Amino acid sequence: MKYDYLIVGAGLYGSVFAHEAKKAGKTCFVIDKRPNIGGNIYTERKNGIDVHKYGAHIFHTSDKEIWDYVNQFADFNNYVNSPVAVYKDELYNLPFNMNTFSKMWNIKTPKEAEEIIKNQIADLNITDPANLEEQALSLVGTDVYEKLIKGYTEKQWGKDCKDLPSFIIKRLPLRFTFDNNYFNDRYQGIPIGGYTKIIEGMLEGIEVRCNEDWIELYKENKINDNDNSKPAKITLSDGTSFEFEKMIYTGQIDEYFNYLYGHLEYRSVRFETEEVDTDNYQGNAVVNYTEREVPYTRIIEHKWFNFGKDENGEPIKGTIISKEYSSAWKIGDEPYYPVNTEKNNKTYEKYKELSKSNKRVIFGGRLGLYKYLDMDKVIAEALKLAKEELK
Ligand code: UDP
Repeated sequence: MKYDYLIVGAGLYGSVFAHEAKKAGKTCFVIDKRPNIGGNIYTERKNGIDVHKYGAHIFHTSDKEIWDYVNQFADFNNYVNSPVAVYKDELYNLPFNMNTFSKMWNIKTPKEAEEIIKNQIADLNITDPANLEEQALSLVGTDVYEKLIKGYTEKQWGKDCKDLPSFIIKRLPLRFTFDNNYFNDRYQGIPIGGYTKIIEGMLEGIEVRCNEDWIELYKENKINDNDNSKPAKITLSDGTSFEFEKMIYTGQIDEYFNYLYGHLEYRSVRFETEEVDTDNYQGNAVVNYTEREVPYTRIIEHKWFNFGKDENGEPIKGTIISKEYSSAWKIGDEPYYPVNTEKNNKTYEKYKELSKSNKRVIFGGRLGLYKYLDMDKVIAEALKLAKEELK
């Protein structure tokens, strides 16, 4: 048997590409080293609750095409992300908006809030923000930075805010209205039935094998990935053998090249998930713990992504929560976030350059492109590749 594409990684990027390739009449074989498809957006149904096993995912986009694209695979509910932040014994709404400011300074009007922030910024004398700390301070002033940004960010990234790129904080809106919607995007929601359903829809009719680790297979099969003049041959660990012309690789690009230019940095996340004997643990899907001293960054109460109801609209009894702990990635951990500092990006560029001579392989997804991409951007990237590749 010969396939046009071997796709390594059954996450969002690989699945979108596979779907498009099949639609274009190409044949694909998808492998993934995990026991499940979906990569980090995989959700697992437990006690009627879709548990976001590899971290909470809220779909949001301003791109109608992308919104229509995902809606082919599932109906989306009208969940709007409005996290709450706990700082010591204080509680604030996120993102930074009039609800946050009125609570912080006991004020009522946008004018008062703007005045306070403006004065705090003026005292700092930052002209050209060079890092996340300066960027955050020059956007929201000292109080919001100290209480809601500094501790959380340093926990999440394991670095001082002075050593982080400023684009990370630009993800968060700042508003002088009473609007707790975390995103500015036009479209937002959670797929009814979970994200796994979307991936299943994309991969329908396509060969998929889980528990197949490319790095191991590569060594065992001695695959020639540089020369694409003839198809490569592979035998999976379950004995399935086939040939393939090209490969889409969505794993870590540095690992692919055996860390030739050194390790790229990633953040990993560990989840402590537990069933709690209450129907309502924290009253919200996402509660961030922004002080440095609390070891986890946030607690997710999964049922609220679906308003606490099952698919028949019945209230779910009990609840499941996940505490999220951020850590430095080391070999054997799941990589979640690329750490896009200047140094790491430069190293990535070297890998990218190297990959150009590799005719058989195309790198994609958060790990293949080493980019902090949201789901809509991942889909856009995969569709872009599909358009170029499948014409
Ligand atoms: N952030 C923060 N305080 C919060 C939430 C977020 O300072 O309570 C900052 C932090 O630097 C974080 C960035 O905003 O890395 C992006 O957060 P987001 O929630 O978008 O991250 P994700 O959901 O992708 O983990």
